[in-house]
Amino acid sequence: MEKVSMRTPLVEMDGDEMTRILWGLVKEKLILPFVDLKTEYYDLGIQNRDKTLDNVTVEAARAILQHGVGVKCATITATAARKKEYALENMLPSPNATIRAVLDGAIFRKPINVSRVKPAIPSWKRPIVIGRHAYGDVYKNTEMSITAPGKVELVFTGHDGTERRSLVADMKSSGVVQGIHNYDDSIRGFARSCFIYALDEGLPVLFAAKDTISQTYDARFRDIFRNVYETEYKNKFAQKNIDYHYALIDDAVARAVKSEGGFLWACKNYDGDVMSDMIASAAGSLAMMTSALVSPEGRYEYEAAHGTVQRHYYRYLQGEKPSTNPTALIFAWAGALEKRAVLDGIAPLEEFAKRLRSVSLQTIESGRMTGDLAASAGCIPLDSWEFIDEIARGLRSSAK
Ligand code: NAP
Ligand code: MG
Repeated sequence: MEKVSMRTPLVEMDGDEMTRILWGLVKEKLILPFVDLKTEYYDLGIQNRDKTLDNVTVEAARAILQHGVGVKCATITATAARKKEYALENMLPSPNATIRAVLDGAIFRKPINVSRVKPAIPSWKRPIVIGRHAYGDVYKNTEMSITAPGKVELVFTGHDGTERRSLVADMKSSGVVQGIHNYDDSIRGFARSCFIYALDEGLPVLFAAKDTISQTYDARFRDIFRNVYETEYKNKFAQKNIDYHYALIDDAVARAVKSEGGFLWACKNYDGDVMSDMIASAAGSLAMMTSALVSPEGRYEYEAAHGTVQRHYYRYLQGEKPSTNPTALIFAWAGALEKRAVLDGIAPLEEFAKRLRSVSLQTIESGRMTGDLAASAGCIPLDSWEFIDEIARGLRSSAK
């Protein structure tokens, strides 16, 4: 069998624990036999991040800026307990936050639908993708506890000394106050990332906020989205027969629940945090959810939405063969290979990426699946090795 060739390398970011084991297995069984794989490899395993003072993460993120597409394994975010467990010298920041800081943009979480896993909302036929703004609002807030009566004001002092004030509250008794902000550039970048992703996936876009109440702050988000759409994307959307709408957030929630799915829901930072967990659990399983970071300049990073599946890893270390679901990891590879193929114009690579996805889904649809799905589908679970072997068999028999 002739292997599919590549031109530009993928930025490959290895990770930790059970997902690191699966990462190697997926490459060995599902990719290397079929693709003459070109990657630029970065080991983001926690020990190497520690040893390099996290430089490896920054270098990987810069490599994505340079090459355009990356694929990432799940990684441990350091905590005091992890520092002790892995005898780390440093308290490292979250790799995803570091990569996001370099690339900017937004995170898109998309459920992987299979007919054997029923969503909690029966009307959902197609995935609802959540696009979450990754900067500002309550995640960069300033808060104050008020203990005595007094005036709370917002004060802006320009670099030229000019001052603007507005009253937040004339506090009659103790309470709390909060100041939040965002930047036009960040909102614009978020809007662009959403429109780029939606065009790629052929999905209509819904952006929702509360502009009736927040007539300056949320209204700015609404206006920037509208402006970016009208000036940069409207024609491209029309060619793909998709569109963009703004809605009030409460209206959007009601609509989403009654919908058939099949749209990109762009959310402000907090709404996206809440809604992505709601969509993830309503869609079925954390192991059936992919995550993509898309920068406003059109750089892409693909990963699984779940973590390193620590509990399964400890069982693996005891000699067990856990039934950890590799589907989201496989989809991350398929997404990255497909994007690379499209950017480089390599049709056989695009065909392989699509086949990798469809064979994985067919394997599950045919009743061969891991434990997280098997119970609700009434099937006998396979361990990760058996499941991946089944997909490899499907790939070999479907090869031209
Ligand atoms: P997790 O790895 O997502 O796993 C939580 C639980 O969800 C698992 O114990 C398992 O449940 C189930 N699960 C998740 N993925 C699964 C899969 N592929 N197949 C089957 N079951 C799956 O979250 P965590 O245990 O809270 O976090 C572990 C580590 O991951 C932490 O160090 C955290 O920092 C890191 N993390 C990394 C990322 C990332 O890199 N993007 C994201 C989140 C967390 P059962 O045990 O009940 O089977
Ligand atoms: Mg959350």
